[in-house]
Amino acid sequence: MKSSKKSKGKKFAFQSPKGTRDLLPNDFLYFDKVEKAVKKTSSLMGFSRIETPMFEDVKLFERGTGSSTDVVKKQMFLIKGKGGENFALRPEMTPGVLRAYIESGLSHVMSPAKFFYWSPLFRYEQPQHGRYRQFYQLGFEILGADDPAFDAQIISASYGVMEELKIKNIIIKINSIGCRTCRANYVKKLKEYYKNKLNKVCRDCNKRYYDNPLRLLDCKEEKCQPIKTQAPQTLDYLCSSCKTHFKQVLEYLDEMKIPYIIEPTLVRGLDYYSRTVFEIFTEGLDFALGGGGRYDYLSETLGGPRMPAVGAACGVERIIEALKTQEISSVPKTRSKVFLIYMGDQAKKKSFEILKSLFDAGIAVNEAFSKDSLKSQLRMADKEGSQMALILGQQEVFEDVIIIRDMESGAQENVPIKKLVDEIKRRLK
Ligand code: AMP
Repeated sequence: MKSSKKSKGKKFAFQSPKGTRDLLPNDFLYFDKVEKAVKKTSSLMGFSRIETPMFEDVKLFERGTGSSTDVVKKQMFLIKGKGGENFALRPEMTPGVLRAYIESGLSHVMSPAKFFYWSPLFRYEQPQHGRYRQFYQLGFEILGADDPAFDAQIISASYGVMEELKIKNIIIKINSIGCRTCRANYVKKLKEYYKNKLNKVCRDCNKRYYDNPLRLLDCKEEKCQPIKTQAPQTLDYLCSSCKTHFKQVLEYLDEMKIPYIIEPTLVRGLDYYSRTVFEIFTEGLDFALGGGGRYDYLSETLGGPRMPAVGAACGVERIIEALKTQEISSVPKTRSKVFLIYMGDQAKKKSFEILKSLFDAGIAVNEAFSKDSLKSQLRMADKEGSQMALILGQQEVFEDVIIIRDMESGAQENVPIKKLVDEIKRRLK
């Protein structure tokens, strides 16, 4: 996936910004494969595509994603507008999708609404394997829905993309962090538990204790692990309606035979989650391919109506990494089977008319306008693996014919130019 920054000869003065990568033609062999899978899954499951601006009012993320989250506190690319506006390059899609849903009035005509997206995002992170400053996410959101069936459907859509791509041994880690009421209860217990252990946990955990206690469970520091594993578990503090909701999500996953494990310390990094949270992993990679959950209060937090919702986002670069690690092939390069060769200026000019008529007929054609000799053009046609070469010289232009050369046998035939399209179609069958 990593594009080489080395160029032959003298070093170029500019390089792509740290943590970003150019997507070169070979990268698109994988990108296109993943995009095709998400479009197929979405169309089968009734998700419509949505896209929002790449930058938004910074407050949308401060309020929505949460001002105490790493994403907002440390990772936003901020832009100052000339009129003094404060924008941020979107670090995630969910708040923007919800804003668009309400702002467009769609929330009055489509509820629940099922969206999918395929979009670039920006996070000012320390770049490392599987972590970039500009990356793509594919994702699903269902807005205006609190039934656990929709949680299961969101997980099934994400899982469906992985299955379509033939990624092996996918496992969903899942948990429930409860609703406003039972979570408050739980957080109280969690804080009580950590209260006299603060001198034993890392500095970040000390901050989390005050800013965002649930994230104490998210700590990856070695010295915090023994304390974390003994901490009270969210599932033990769910109210009866959250308990039933979670049980039903799991039952629906069982029905679909989607493999999951309950992960009691899973809480996710963004503030708006409630009830179901999950992450998607695969064999051989230690980072998550995707994750998501319910965000029943996000709309209200942003000043909108009550609107329960659930969604998931998966990292496209990480999915591609999984495809490569598991040696799953990309889409094959598309090669045109026809190669047009010209000799002389008059033939070169006439080539444009012929190429246009072939393109209009939906026939892909390659040419080598930078090479003039017959020999070098034939060599190109051979290298490209073309099935046939169309050869046009001054004599052919004069007679309104073109030579079709079968590249395998070398057999050549003169064909009137006006019959060329039909003849090529016949040979390509
Ligand atoms: P999040 O929006 O943080 O829940 O992330 C959802 C998914 O997006 C993760 O599971 C990753 O696959 C992917 N992801 C998040 N941050 C990055 C990043 N900086 N670079 C590449 N992929 C990312």
